[in-house]
Amino acid sequence: MPITLDSTITDLPGVGDSYAQKLEKLGVNTARDLLLYFPRRWEDFSHVTKISDVKAGEQVSVKGVIFDIGTKRSKRGMPVTEAVITDDSGSAKAVWFNQPYLEGSLKKGDEIYLAGKMEWGFGQLNFVSPAYEKAKEAEDELRHTGRIVPIYPETAGVTSKWIRTKVGGLTKLIYNLKDHLPDNVKKRHDLLDLSAAVRTMHFPESIDELKKAQKRFLYDDLFCLLLSVLANKKELEKNKAITIKYNEAVGKKFVDSLPYDLTNAQRKAAWEILKDIARPIPANRLLEGDVGSGKTVVAAMAALMTANAGYQVAILAPTEILARQHYESFKSLLSSFKDIEVVLLTGSMTGKEKEDALLKIKNGDVQIVVGTHAILSENVEFWTLALVIVDEQHRFGVAQRMKLKKANGETDAMPHFLSMSATPIPRTLAITVFGDLTLSVLDEMPPGREKVDTHIVPPAKRTEGYRFIDQRIEEGRQVFVICPLISASDKLGVKSVVEEADNLKKVFSKRKVGLLHGKLKPAEKEKVMNDFKEGKLDILVSTSVIEVGVDVPNASIMVIEGADRFGLASLHQFRGRVGRGKHKSYCFLFTDSKNEKTLERLNALSLLNNGFELAEKDLELRGPGELLGVKQSGKIDSTMMRVLSDPLIIKEVRETAEKFIVKENLDDYPKLKEKVAEFEVAAKLE
Ligand code: ADP
Ligand code: MG
Repeated sequence: MPITLDSTITDLPGVGDSYAQKLEKLGVNTARDLLLYFPRRWEDFSHVTKISDVKAGEQVSVKGVIFDIGTKRSKRGMPVTEAVITDDSGSAKAVWFNQPYLEGSLKKGDEIYLAGKMEWGFGQLNFVSPAYEKAKEAEDELRHTGRIVPIYPETAGVTSKWIRTKVGGLTKLIYNLKDHLPDNVKKRHDLLDLSAAVRTMHFPESIDELKKAQKRFLYDDLFCLLLSVLANKKELEKNKAITIKYNEAVGKKFVDSLPYDLTNAQRKAAWEILKDIARPIPANRLLEGDVGSGKTVVAAMAALMTANAGYQVAILAPTEILARQHYESFKSLLSSFKDIEVVLLTGSMTGKEKEDALLKIKNGDVQIVVGTHAILSENVEFWTLALVIVDEQHRFGVAQRMKLKKANGETDAMPHFLSMSATPIPRTLAITVFGDLTLSVLDEMPPGREKVDTHIVPPAKRTEGYRFIDQRIEEGRQVFVICPLISASDKLGVKSVVEEADNLKKVFSKRKVGLLHGKLKPAEKEKVMNDFKEGKLDILVSTSVIEVGVDVPNASIMVIEGADRFGLASLHQFRGRVGRGKHKSYCFLFTDSKNEKTLERLNALSLLNNGFELAEKDLELRGPGELLGVKQSGKIDSTMMRVLSDPLIIKEVRETAEKFIVKENLDDYPKLKEKVAEFEVAAKLE
């Protein structure tokens, strides 16, 4: 049977089940997959030189005849194969370790290519473990020597040499690949065709050509990522939304009721949001601002305007603790508006209580519903939901919003969407992965916030650190301690939260230590949180569940155990839990790490207090997936890592994608549509 692109990998000559299993782990199941499995890097052995001209340390290939070959054993018993190769300029010695089978395949008199570096040893230059290729087997084309050689991401048992040989056997098939990129896109950006680019990725003729192929795939991936985002946007904008008119008297009454003046940034963001929800198409806005920048009051203004117009608002938080906290905040912020009712809806509510709440929501007797994301999955029925506010979640997929639209009884309007996030999104990400959202940024803190002193604490300074902390507790302050893992299976040397609490009870024997982690029942969690808020606990040991949102102004110390295990964005969020009251605050990064890179990263935290700068650094060091804490496809991560170094490309490709979305219909391009779907950003829902 002839091999086609769709042939399963075991149809290829020399590929059995055991190889198929290994390849499956690389995502390679068909001939097509193998062709699209690209090298991670390349080594340039294209310089074929005369043996006498080879210089030490130079990366070269030579062509010669085997004058002699033999295998002996080293003192430790390892087989060492040595060969002497000659050409018309001279001879060279090649040495391979632990490859006794070489003697069976390379014979005296064979004409071969060697690729590698020559190094000094025993008073002469030798090729050490060079790649080799018999001249008569490289009939059409050299694969492993005498060229730019592809090095693939390898898995145990599948070597680059093996992949090269198999791909080499399939080169004719490459020309059957159908290109998904529209011609005009390729033309505009001067991109290679898919087949030419694939061919070049595996077997480039020159570095220039290789760069062109890489460019093609970078633009390709970025174009598809942007199309995915823009198609989402277009899809949303087909929907109608309820227009919420701005009511000046209500706005003024609200602002006057606050115990503080809004910052300029808050005013501007509120205005942007209110303008947004006054339009008849669904808003899709992200309100970002550092921890403590005051996002809640801005969101409350939009909620108020919506409720006042007679429609409903849903406010979704990632955890029950936070839902409860938002419930309290919104109730208090809107307390001067007597006819606006706020209700809490959580998973731990009992039957009767919950039924009442659900009925009120359905009948429209309550305007503001605060709950966890579970509201979405539980099919809560609304009377007329006009605005959804989501805390600490970056985006909602079209599917989730359609669900909310369906939850609406009377109207077929889709709710406006406002997301709040403390993760500052660097510009490069904002216009790509988040290109379907409009941004409002709180780039100004309410007055009176002090910088949190941040220090890295190595093991030797731990005792001193504890002493300092104990003094602050003596003065009446409280302490957060964050640990990376819950379980005691501590293979990574990471302190578990339970062990750490026990340990701290000994270290701080006079103090009261509480414990908070995700495996506690909601009622238990709440009790611990309340005890801490009310000052009944001095130290709260917690996993990262408290990462988002909780507000305890008397807590002035944040201790992070195993700090090296967290990204800068998370660490910055933890730190944001303190420095909220009038007390001088501290953040201690406990780490055993001696790794220079790690310490550099942690040090950025003591130097920088600005979430945006930290996010840029994190993006650079760890990639977008880590930064955003969302489960994204590796494709997006890898695409973004590649464009980071050249943000101008983003602008250029974005213009093309925008033009395409306006002028064309993705349905007319099925191949492209398939590719675009791979870039769908998954929203994180528990
Ligand atoms: P975040 O952006 O982290 O959600 P919050 O909305 O919880 O921040 O606000 C943090 C604290 O700042 C709250 O206690 C809030 O009452 C207070 N706050 C908000 N805006 C202002 C302001 N303009 N002036 C003073 N305090 C403010
Ligand atoms: Mg908040």
